[in-house]
Parts: sequence; C-alpha cells; structure tokens
Amino acid sequence: MPNLSCRRNKSAVCLVVLAIGVLTSSSIAGDNSGEIDRLRTDVQTLASDDFEGRGVGTAGLEKAAEYVRNAFVGAGLDVTVAGGDPYQEFEITTGSQLTEPNTLAFNGANGQTIDLKYDADFRTCSFGDPGTFDAEIVFCGYGIESTDPPYNDFEAVDVKDKVVLVIRRTPQQKHENGLFAVAHGASRHASLTTKVSQAFQRGAAAVLVVNDVFTGRNEREQLESQLKEAEAEVLAAADQLVDAADVADADLAKSALETAVRHVRDVRDMLGKLNADPLIAFGYGGSRTGKSLPVFSISQAVCNQLLVESIGKSQSQIEDEIDATGKPQSVALTGWTAAGQASLKPVTVEIKNVIGVLEGEGPLADETVVIGAHYDHVGFGGEGSLAPGSTEIHNGADDNASGTAALLELARRFGERTPRLPRRLVFIAFTGEERGLLGSAEYVKEPLFALDKTVAMLNMDMVGRMDGQKLTVFGTGTSPVWDGWLDEFGGAAGLELSRKPEGLGPSDHQSFYTAKIPVLHLFSGTHSDYHRPTDDSEKINYDGMASVVELVDKLIVATATDPDRPAYVEVQGRSSMERDGSRPYFGSIPDFSADAEGYAIQGVAPGSPAAKAGLEGKDIIVRLGGHRIAGLDDFDLALRKFSAGQQVEVVVIRGGGEVTLTVTLAVPRG
Ligand SMILES: [Zn+2]
Repeated sequence: MPNLSCRRNKSAVCLVVLAIGVLTSSSIAGDNSGEIDRLRTDVQTLASDDFEGRGVGTAGLEKAAEYVRNAFVGAGLDVTVAGGDPYQEFEITTGSQLTEPNTLAFNGANGQTIDLKYDADFRTCSFGDPGTFDAEIVFCGYGIESTDPPYNDFEAVDVKDKVVLVIRRTPQQKHENGLFAVAHGASRHASLTTKVSQAFQRGAAAVLVVNDVFTGRNEREQLESQLKEAEAEVLAAADQLVDAADVADADLAKSALETAVRHVRDVRDMLGKLNADPLIAFGYGGSRTGKSLPVFSISQAVCNQLLVESIGKSQSQIEDEIDATGKPQSVALTGWTAAGQASLKPVTVEIKNVIGVLEGEGPLADETVVIGAHYDHVGFGGEGSLAPGSTEIHNGADDNASGTAALLELARRFGERTPRLPRRLVFIAFTGEERGLLGSAEYVKEPLFALDKTVAMLNMDMVGRMDGQKLTVFGTGTSPVWDGWLDEFGGAAGLELSRKPEGLGPSDHQSFYTAKIPVLHLFSGTHSDYHRPTDDSEKINYDGMASVVELVDKLIVATATDPDRPAYVEVQGRSSMERDGSRPYFGSIPDFSADAEGYAIQGVAPGSPAAKAGLEGKDIIVRLGGHRIAGLDDFDLALRKFSAGQQVEVVVIRGGGEVTLTVTLAVPRG
C-alpha cells in the first residue's frame, strides 16, 4: 500500500481494506465452511473436559497454552519473542499453605494461663498473615462498623496493637428484620475478610474469630424439630398399619413406615454428627488482597472460658444482650493477653501469556497492533464461579474459548497473507484474566514491544453466543477512527453493532486503555451459562464467530495500514473492577497483578475524583482518610465510611516516597 495519495482520507483506507479483504481473505464469498470447521474444532477442544476448564493451577491450562502455541506455529507466527519461546511466564499467589509453628495461649493478670491445642481449640486461618504477637485482648462483638444501620463495634474500644476477638456473622440473625438482615445471602458485614479488614485498618496485632452461638444452636434446633416431625410420621404410619383394612392398605402403610423410620434415622444421624462449633478449615474464607495480620479461629469453649474469667459473662449471654439491645458490647479484657504465632506461606503458581508475532514491513514496521483474547477460565469452580459450591468443570466455551479460537483463526489468516502489513501484529492469548486481568496487566508492565509504539489493542472476550447478527463493541470512543471503520466493516459483515464508548471494562483491553492505548473489545453478550459448568460448546454460534473474525480482520488491516496511528481519546468511564454499590465514587483502577503492601492501582478513570486529585498509575494507596490500607478489601471498606462531596486525605507510595493528596469524593456510580 506504498503510495496512498489521500493520506488523510480515512475512507480511502477503508477501500484499501475492503480490497485487501476480498483479495486475500480465505473466506471467498459465502464459502467459509473450512473456517467454521476450524473455529468449531478449536472451541470444542479448548472447552473439552480434557482442558479442565483452563483454571489457574490446572494441567488443563498448561495444555491450552501448548495448544495455542502449536496453532501459532502452524499459522507461521514468530513464537520466539519471549526469550526464545512464546511464553511470557510470571508467578501469582493463589492461596496459602500452613507451615510451623502455630501456637496460641491466653494469659491472665493473676498468672492464669489457658493453653490452646491446635485443631482442637484453635486453628490458623488461611486469609491471615504469618507473624507473632503478645498483646492485650479486646472483645469487639461482631467486628462490624456500619453507617446504615448505625452500629459500630469499635466505637468504645481502642484496638491499636491489641488482639481483637470477634464473633462470626452478625447480630439479630433470628429476627427477620434484624439489623443486618438482607434479602438474599448474607450481609457484607458478615464476611470474615471484612472483619479482618476492620481490625487491620485500626492497627490491630492479630484477630481471633469465634463462631456465633446462634448458627450452631439454630442448626441443632432445626434438626431437632425435623426429628420431632419424623417421629410423628412414624407414629402416623404405625397407626395407619394398625388400622389397615386390607393387605393393600397394610402394604402402603408399611412402606410409609419404612420411609418414616429411615427419615428418623437420617435426622438422628445428622444430629449425632452435628458439630455446632467447627473451627474454620484452613483454606476457607477466601483470600484477602494485600498484607494482613495473624488470624485464628478459636472454639466457643475456650472463648467462653476467657470471657467468663475476664468479664464474667458467657458468649451466648453477650450475643443475647446485643440481640436484645441492638447495641455493641465491646470491652477490653483487662489483664488478659494473647500470645501466639501463625505460620503460613503463600502458594504461588507460574502462569503464562502465549505470544506470537508477525513483523510489519516498511516505515511503520516498528509500530505494533495487539490482538488479544484470554484463554484461561475458572477451572473446577470456586473463585469466580457463579455456581456456588460446584466443583464441576466449567468448560468456558464462550468464555473464552470462543475469543481464543477467533484469535487463532486470525493468526492463520494473517500468517498466510502476503505481503505483510505495514505495522507489526502481536497476537496474545492472555492468562489469569479471571483472577483480575493478570496476564494483560503483566504484559503492560513488561511489554515485549514498546507501549508508546503500540497503536491499538483489539480484544475478543465472549464472542460465541451472538444472537442473530447482534454484537457489542466497547471502546468505540477511545479513538476517532473507530466509528467510521465500524460503520464500513460492520455493515460489510452484516453485523448489528451496539457501541459503547468507554475503554474501561472487565476484560483485558482495560489494561491497555489504562496505558493510554486506543482499544476495542468485542462481546456477543452475557447469558445464563456465564461462569457456570453449562457454558458448553454445543451452545456456540459459529457463524456469528465467523462474522466477528471477518470484522476484526478488517479492523486489523485498517489499524495496521493507516499511515496515521489511531489517536487516543480519554473517555469518561468507571473501571468495572472498582466495586460498585453504595460507595462514593473515587475512580481508581486496581492492579491485581501487583504484590504490594497497600492498594496498588493500574491507573485512574479519566475525569474521576482520583484523576482530578492527581493519583496516577503505579501509585500504591496506603492510607485513606486515616485508615490503614493493605489492599482492595481495605480500600473498599474504608471508602464506604465516607460520602459524596467529602474531601479525604489519601497517602500513596510513589517512587519509593509517600505523597499525600486530597480527593473530593463524587456521587456513587450505579
Ligand atoms: Zn472472559
């Protein structure tokens, strides 16, 4: 395309693109059966049970990486760009592993000691940090601070450098309209990591968590009433048998009796096995972002001993008082200290982006166009799954075997196409997307090609469930060129495009947009199989995928050919990664790949309060309005303590030093 006379005439670029498309595209009019077959094969393979839902830490994810590599090789891409191979490896923390020693003891002012036995009286929690401590114990109720309803377990006590003892869940659970009753599930104040965050932000030394008496008691009462019902069924069936008029009646009554007796046995069995006060299993309770503190689960028996010896009240007495008054009962257990050590270490896993390259030709060859799709998914469920408790393979046919297959097909198309396009094409299959855009964040942090010469990023995430010809394109406002090209190419591909201007959003394009690179993200829409084991390849619309490939093909040619690189435009929008809900708007974009002591941000949303206050990418927030911040959990919780219009002081680590900024919070964004 050397002598393009009309340099500034965009439609000229379109014409060239359309011409190239027609000349070189393997999809000669109407017959793209070969392509459909390849797309189907790739989706079916990547979404097969063999690939184990491509979860982080599974062999299936490794297999998928190799599958992508082989496809890149087959397509003729250069797969030696990441230090001789296509793999950009990096480590992530996926959990923690218990080590030794783990000790805990309570010491009274009069020399009393309550020694605790591991796995019987206490257990280390995986969402805490290793560490030793020896400090006064402060009982802090349920460890809740809430503005609505107004309730604060920390109001009357000082927990700095103290050991905080909290009860799990929330008060007034037995009341339908209790203080923290919510329509579905549990109040966010019930979450273990929220309670730990409250203590951490106040500078506590360690946290002890005890099961609320209500839950265990309630389970027992429910089983006991079930037992009563089951026993009544036995009596009723026995009466029926006694009164049976004939053999048929007697047989009916007999089988009813057998069922009822079985039911009684089952319930008795459950009652017998009921552990109303199980210590928290190591590994349960989720993980906490950022630094933490030692956290232990203790039994109600030792908690009671401590409370009775120190303040003369039992745990259930205190729970009943809080339930009755709706008021906290927090108090320092004067004279009582807890000494202990928690030993655990992070479990890290190596994951990798898979990268293949087609170099450009001519004066623009040192500029890059990135085409991407994440190839990981949520594996056997757990973190990220929308099927609570499911351990089935989440096959992820649409999310995102479809985008990966489209990426491979585009690699094949451009691999066989000559001459090469003016700009370099970098095809990236990202990993770790489901854990917070980790792969794309890693690439942006350690780019293989200069980011300031990366002219655009085209992302495909969930392009397999098109409804008819409908397709959503995000990022259309991030460069002035996009709309014109989408008019042209979308029309040519017969697509009904719905356009969203913002460049921020829950997929890998956000990492590039935060680095001030124009982006487009193609998306065929959400559905009821999203992040569930049922996201299977039978439900994929392969014709729709072929249209997406066709559209992206043309966008790639235009972006890689246009003499002028697409201009970057700041679009007001909020990062979907910043949790929504009733919090004032701040505008930070979390960097989940950072391993920092504080809340690391990848960037700020254009025009947001954070942007106006001068926060920038790579800043690490360590204090917000006086609250200590170790990660997104603490930041989220602290922000909820403020309201729109308030000015809060934010302390960030930048370039190794502390910088204090003042942010004027804005109204919450829905
Ligand atoms: Zn996805």
